[in-house]
Amino acid sequence: MSIIIENLSHVYGKGTPFLVEALKGVSFKVERGELTGIIGHTGSGKSTLAQHLNGLETPESGRVLVDDVDLSQKYDKKAIRTKVGMVFQYPEQQLFEETVEKDICFGPKNLGLNEEKQKQRARHAMDLMSLSYEEYAQRSPFDLSGGQKRRVAIAGVLAMEPDYLVLDEPTAGLDPEARKRLLTMIRRLPEETGMGVLMVSHSMEDMAMYADKIAVMDHGRLLRYGTPEQVFSEPEVLEKAGLGIPILSRLTLSLKEKGMTLSFSKTPEEFAKNLKQALEGRGQHGDE
Ligand code: ADP
Ligand code: MG
Repeated sequence: MSIIIENLSHVYGKGTPFLVEALKGVSFKVERGELTGIIGHTGSGKSTLAQHLNGLETPESGRVLVDDVDLSQKYDKKAIRTKVGMVFQYPEQQLFEETVEKDICFGPKNLGLNEEKQKQRARHAMDLMSLSYEEYAQRSPFDLSGGQKRRVAIAGVLAMEPDYLVLDEPTAGLDPEARKRLLTMIRRLPEETGMGVLMVSHSMEDMAMYADKIAVMDHGRLLRYGTPEQVFSEPEVLEKAGLGIPILSRLTLSLKEKGMTLSFSKTPEEFAKNLKQALEGRGQHGDE
Protein backbone atom coordinates (compact mmCIF):
# COMPACT_ATOMS: atom_id res chain seq x y z
CA MET A 1 0.00 0.00 0.00
CA SER A 2 1.23 3.46 -0.82
CA ILE A 3 0.40 7.04 -1.65
CA ILE A 4 0.52 7.51 -5.41
CA ILE A 5 0.99 11.00 -6.79
CA GLU A 6 0.02 10.99 -10.43
CA ASN A 7 0.68 13.84 -12.85
CA LEU A 8 -0.23 16.31 -10.12
CA SER A 9 -0.55 20.00 -10.98
CA HIS A 10 -1.58 22.86 -8.75
CA VAL A 11 -2.10 26.58 -9.33
CA TYR A 12 -2.58 29.36 -6.80
CA GLY A 13 -4.51 32.51 -7.63
CA LYS A 14 -6.33 31.13 -10.65
CA GLY A 15 -8.12 33.86 -12.59
CA THR A 16 -6.05 36.60 -10.92
CA PRO A 17 -2.90 38.43 -12.05
CA PHE A 18 -1.07 36.54 -9.27
CA LEU A 19 -1.36 33.10 -10.80
CA VAL A 20 1.42 30.72 -9.69
CA GLU A 21 1.90 27.27 -11.14
CA ALA A 22 3.18 25.68 -7.96
CA LEU A 23 3.16 22.06 -9.20
CA LYS A 24 3.50 20.88 -12.78
CA GLY A 25 2.78 17.23 -13.59
CA VAL A 26 4.47 15.64 -10.57
CA SER A 27 4.41 11.83 -10.24
CA PHE A 28 5.99 9.60 -7.61
CA LYS A 29 5.10 7.23 -4.76
CA VAL A 30 5.37 7.17 -1.01
CA GLU A 31 5.66 3.55 0.11
CA ARG A 32 4.82 2.27 3.57
CA GLY A 33 7.88 1.24 5.56
CA GLU A 34 10.07 3.75 3.75
CA LEU A 35 11.34 7.27 4.31
CA THR A 36 10.82 9.37 1.20
CA GLY A 37 12.42 12.79 1.09
CA ILE A 38 11.35 15.83 -0.91
CA ILE A 39 14.12 18.26 -1.59
CA GLY A 40 14.30 21.52 -3.54
CA HIS A 41 15.04 25.20 -3.06
CA THR A 42 12.54 27.65 -1.56
CA GLY A 43 9.44 28.07 -3.70
CA SER A 44 9.96 24.81 -5.63
CA GLY A 45 6.59 23.43 -4.47
CA LYS A 46 7.55 21.14 -1.57
CA SER A 47 4.97 22.39 0.94
CA THR A 48 2.25 22.58 -1.69
CA LEU A 49 2.94 18.97 -2.58
CA ALA A 50 2.95 17.89 1.08
CA GLN A 51 -0.42 19.54 1.63
CA HIS A 52 -2.02 17.52 -1.16
CA LEU A 53 -1.34 14.25 0.62
CA ASN A 54 -4.11 14.62 3.18
CA GLY A 55 -6.45 16.76 1.16
CA LEU A 56 -5.53 20.20 2.52
CA GLU A 57 -5.02 21.28 -1.09
CA THR A 58 -6.96 19.96 -4.07
CA PRO A 59 -5.28 19.12 -7.39
CA GLU A 60 -5.85 21.38 -10.38
CA SER A 61 -5.26 18.25 -12.44
CA GLY A 62 -3.83 14.82 -11.83
CA ARG A 63 -4.52 12.61 -8.81
CA VAL A 64 -3.41 11.67 -5.35
CA LEU A 65 -4.33 8.13 -4.28
CA VAL A 66 -3.98 7.19 -0.62
CA ASP A 67 -4.18 3.38 -0.40
CA ASP A 68 -6.48 3.52 -3.44
CA VAL A 69 -8.68 6.37 -2.12
CA ASP A 70 -8.70 9.03 -4.85
CA LEU A 71 -8.54 12.45 -3.19
CA SER A 72 -9.80 14.18 -6.32
CA GLN A 73 -13.14 12.33 -5.94
CA LYS A 74 -15.54 12.40 -3.01
CA TYR A 75 -13.93 10.80 0.05
CA ASP A 76 -14.12 10.61 3.83
CA LYS A 77 -12.03 13.62 4.89
CA LYS A 78 -11.80 12.67 8.54
CA ALA A 79 -10.62 9.16 7.70
CA ILE A 80 -7.89 10.50 5.40
CA ARG A 81 -6.71 13.08 7.95
CA THR A 82 -6.35 10.26 10.46
CA LYS A 83 -4.60 8.01 7.97
CA VAL A 84 -2.14 10.69 6.84
CA GLY A 85 -0.65 12.60 9.77
CA MET A 86 0.65 16.06 8.94
CA VAL A 87 3.42 17.81 10.86
CA PHE A 88 3.59 21.42 9.74
CA GLN A 89 6.62 23.66 10.03
CA TYR A 90 7.22 24.76 13.64
CA PRO A 91 4.49 22.40 14.95
CA GLU A 92 5.31 23.37 18.56
CA GLN A 93 3.48 26.63 17.97
CA GLN A 94 0.29 24.60 18.23
CA LEU A 95 0.97 23.16 21.67
CA PHE A 96 -1.58 24.49 24.14
CA GLU A 97 -2.47 22.06 26.93
CA GLU A 98 -1.09 22.35 30.45
CA THR A 99 0.69 18.98 30.37
CA VAL A 100 2.57 17.07 27.72
CA GLU A 101 0.27 14.09 28.16
CA LYS A 102 -2.91 16.12 27.68
CA ASP A 103 -1.49 17.71 24.58
CA ILE A 104 -0.60 14.36 23.04
CA CYS A 105 -3.99 12.89 24.04
CA PHE A 106 -5.85 15.68 22.22
CA GLY A 107 -6.01 13.80 18.89
CA PRO A 108 -6.88 10.36 20.34
CA LYS A 109 -9.56 12.03 22.49
CA ASN A 110 -11.13 13.52 19.37
CA LEU A 111 -11.10 10.06 17.82
CA GLY A 112 -13.43 9.09 20.66
CA LEU A 113 -11.03 6.74 22.46
CA ASN A 114 -11.49 6.16 26.18
CA GLU A 115 -9.02 7.60 28.67
CA GLU A 116 -7.05 4.41 29.09
CA LYS A 117 -6.62 4.02 25.32
CA GLN A 118 -5.66 7.69 25.00
CA LYS A 119 -2.96 7.26 27.60
CA GLN A 120 -1.66 4.09 25.93
CA ARG A 121 -1.43 5.99 22.67
CA ALA A 122 0.36 8.90 24.35
CA ARG A 123 2.89 6.62 26.03
CA HIS A 124 3.67 4.79 22.80
CA ALA A 125 3.98 8.03 20.81
CA MET A 126 6.31 9.45 23.47
CA ASP A 127 8.39 6.28 23.24
CA LEU A 128 8.74 6.77 19.49
CA MET A 129 10.00 10.31 20.12
CA SER A 130 12.34 9.15 22.93
CA LEU A 131 10.46 11.11 25.58
CA SER A 132 10.31 9.21 28.86
CA TYR A 133 6.68 9.03 30.02
CA GLU A 134 7.67 9.11 33.68
CA GLU A 135 9.79 12.17 33.19
CA TYR A 136 7.72 14.27 30.82
CA ALA A 137 4.02 13.28 30.83
CA GLN A 138 3.02 15.66 33.61
CA ARG A 139 5.29 18.55 32.70
CA SER A 140 4.13 21.70 30.98
CA PRO A 141 5.11 21.64 27.29
CA PHE A 142 6.10 25.28 27.67
CA ASP A 143 8.94 24.43 30.08
CA LEU A 144 10.72 22.18 27.59
CA SER A 145 13.60 22.92 25.23
CA GLY A 146 12.89 23.72 21.57
CA GLY A 147 13.81 20.23 20.44
CA GLN A 148 11.67 18.59 23.13
CA LYS A 149 8.66 20.77 22.32
CA ARG A 150 8.91 19.75 18.73
CA ARG A 151 9.06 16.07 19.69
CA VAL A 152 5.95 16.51 21.84
CA ALA A 153 4.16 18.09 18.88
CA ILE A 154 5.18 15.23 16.58
CA ALA A 155 4.15 12.70 19.25
CA GLY A 156 0.69 14.33 19.16
CA VAL A 157 0.39 13.41 15.49
CA LEU A 158 1.86 9.94 16.03
CA ALA A 159 -0.74 9.29 18.74
CA MET A 160 -3.36 9.26 15.97
CA GLU A 161 -1.52 6.16 14.70
CA PRO A 162 -1.47 7.29 11.09
CA ASP A 163 -0.37 4.96 8.29
CA TYR A 164 1.57 7.82 6.71
CA LEU A 165 3.37 10.74 8.28
CA VAL A 166 4.20 13.93 6.36
CA LEU A 167 6.75 16.26 7.94
CA ASP A 168 7.42 19.70 6.46
CA GLU A 169 10.99 20.75 7.33
CA PRO A 170 10.87 19.07 10.74
CA THR A 171 14.36 20.21 11.78
CA ALA A 172 14.04 23.90 10.84
CA GLY A 173 15.49 26.15 13.52
CA LEU A 174 16.89 23.36 15.74
CA ASP A 175 20.52 23.36 16.87
CA PRO A 176 22.75 20.68 15.29
CA GLU A 177 22.47 18.24 18.17
CA ALA A 178 18.65 18.43 18.46
CA ARG A 179 18.47 18.18 14.71
CA LYS A 180 20.50 15.01 14.54
CA ARG A 181 18.49 13.40 17.37
CA LEU A 182 15.20 14.20 15.71
CA LEU A 183 16.38 12.88 12.35
CA THR A 184 17.49 9.63 14.00
CA MET A 185 14.02 9.24 15.53
CA ILE A 186 12.28 10.02 12.24
CA ARG A 187 14.52 7.53 10.46
CA ARG A 188 13.41 4.78 12.85
CA LEU A 189 9.67 5.40 12.35
CA PRO A 190 9.14 3.54 9.07
CA GLU A 191 11.13 0.58 10.36
CA GLU A 192 9.49 0.41 13.78
CA THR A 193 5.90 1.17 12.85
CA GLY A 194 5.72 0.27 9.16
CA MET A 195 4.29 3.67 8.31
CA GLY A 196 5.28 5.56 5.18
CA VAL A 197 7.12 8.76 6.03
CA LEU A 198 7.49 11.74 3.72
CA MET A 199 9.93 14.38 4.88
CA VAL A 200 10.44 17.77 3.27
CA SER A 201 13.96 19.12 3.70
CA HIS A 202 16.44 21.32 1.98
CA SER A 203 19.50 19.55 3.31
CA MET A 204 21.06 17.24 0.74
CA GLU A 205 23.35 15.85 3.44
CA ASP A 206 20.38 14.79 5.58
CA MET A 207 18.62 13.23 2.64
CA ALA A 208 21.67 11.22 1.62
CA MET A 209 22.00 9.89 5.13
CA TYR A 210 18.38 9.19 6.04
CA ALA A 211 16.11 8.79 3.00
CA ASP A 212 15.26 5.59 1.16
CA LYS A 213 13.96 7.54 -1.85
CA ILE A 214 14.35 11.17 -2.83
CA ALA A 215 12.10 13.38 -4.96
CA VAL A 216 13.91 16.47 -6.21
CA MET A 217 11.67 19.45 -6.96
CA ASP A 218 12.61 22.39 -9.18
CA HIS A 219 10.19 25.22 -9.99
CA GLY A 220 7.15 22.99 -9.49
CA ARG A 221 8.51 20.11 -11.53
CA LEU A 222 9.86 16.78 -10.37
CA LEU A 223 13.47 16.89 -11.52
CA ARG A 224 14.53 13.46 -10.28
CA TYR A 225 13.08 10.60 -8.20
CA GLY A 226 15.01 7.60 -6.97
CA THR A 227 17.36 6.24 -4.34
CA PRO A 228 19.99 8.65 -2.93
CA GLU A 229 22.60 6.74 -4.92
CA GLN A 230 20.69 7.28 -8.17
CA VAL A 231 19.85 10.92 -7.49
CA PHE A 232 23.35 11.92 -6.41
CA SER A 233 25.05 10.20 -9.32
CA GLU A 234 24.11 13.14 -11.57
CA PRO A 235 25.61 16.28 -10.05
CA GLU A 236 25.13 18.29 -13.28
CA VAL A 237 21.37 17.84 -13.13
CA LEU A 238 21.17 19.00 -9.53
CA GLU A 239 23.56 21.89 -10.04
CA LYS A 240 21.42 23.21 -12.89
CA ALA A 241 18.59 23.42 -10.38
CA GLY A 242 20.82 25.33 -7.98
CA LEU A 243 21.25 22.33 -5.69
CA GLY A 244 24.50 20.79 -4.57
CA ILE A 245 25.27 17.15 -3.92
CA PRO A 246 26.47 15.81 -0.57
CA ILE A 247 30.20 16.01 0.05
CA LEU A 248 30.59 12.21 0.26
CA SER A 249 28.90 11.75 -3.12
CA ARG A 250 31.18 14.44 -4.55
CA LEU A 251 34.26 12.68 -3.17
CA THR A 252 33.06 9.35 -4.54
CA LEU A 253 32.54 10.87 -8.00
CA SER A 254 35.94 12.60 -7.92
CA LEU A 255 37.65 9.35 -7.01
CA LYS A 256 35.84 7.62 -9.84
CA GLU A 257 37.21 10.20 -12.27
CA LYS A 258 40.66 9.31 -10.98
CA GLY A 259 40.00 5.65 -11.62
CA MET A 260 38.94 4.44 -8.18
CA THR A 261 35.41 3.09 -7.90
CA LEU A 262 33.75 3.18 -4.48
CA SER A 263 30.25 2.06 -3.49
CA PHE A 264 27.78 4.77 -2.50
CA SER A 265 28.29 5.95 1.11
CA LYS A 266 25.58 7.39 3.35
CA THR A 267 27.84 8.26 6.27
CA PRO A 268 31.51 9.20 6.80
CA GLU A 269 31.98 5.81 8.48
CA GLU A 270 30.65 4.01 5.43
CA PHE A 271 32.85 6.14 3.20
CA ALA A 272 35.94 5.25 5.25
CA LYS A 273 35.06 1.55 5.04
CA ASN A 274 34.45 1.70 1.29
CA LEU A 275 37.66 3.64 0.72
CA LYS A 276 39.68 1.18 2.79
CA GLN A 277 38.18 -1.73 0.87
CA ALA A 278 38.99 -0.12 -2.47
CA LEU A 279 42.58 0.59 -1.38
CA GLU A 280 43.07 -2.95 -0.10
CA GLY A 281 41.60 -4.35 -3.28
CA ARG A 282 44.31 -2.47 -5.20
CA GLY A 283 47.29 -3.89 -3.34
CA GLN A 284 48.44 -7.35 -4.51
CA HIS A 285 48.41 -8.75 -1.01
CA GLY A 286 45.80 -6.39 0.27
CA ASP A 287 43.47 -9.06 1.60
CA GLU A 288 43.47 -9.60 5.34
P1 ADP B 1 8.43 25.38 -0.93
O1 ADP B 1 7.74 24.71 0.19
O2 ADP B 1 9.27 24.48 -1.78
O3 ADP B 1 9.21 26.58 -0.49
P2 ADP B 1 5.76 26.25 -1.72
O4 ADP B 1 4.96 25.03 -2.02
O5 ADP B 1 5.55 26.92 -0.42
O6 ADP B 1 7.30 25.91 -1.96
O7 ADP B 1 5.50 27.33 -2.87
C1 ADP B 1 5.49 27.02 -4.26
C2 ADP B 1 5.07 28.27 -5.02
O8 ADP B 1 3.72 28.58 -4.71
C3 ADP B 1 5.88 29.51 -4.65
O9 ADP B 1 6.00 30.29 -5.82
C4 ADP B 1 4.99 30.21 -3.62
O10 ADP B 1 5.20 31.60 -3.65
C5 ADP B 1 3.59 29.85 -4.12
N1 ADP B 1 2.61 29.75 -3.02
C6 ADP B 1 2.69 28.93 -1.95
N2 ADP B 1 1.60 29.04 -1.17
C7 ADP B 1 0.80 29.97 -1.75
C8 ADP B 1 -0.48 30.53 -1.43
N3 ADP B 1 -1.15 30.14 -0.35
N4 ADP B 1 -0.98 31.46 -2.28
C9 ADP B 1 -0.30 31.84 -3.38
N5 ADP B 1 0.89 31.34 -3.75
C10 ADP B 1 1.45 30.42 -2.95
MG1 MG C 1 7.85 25.05 2.24
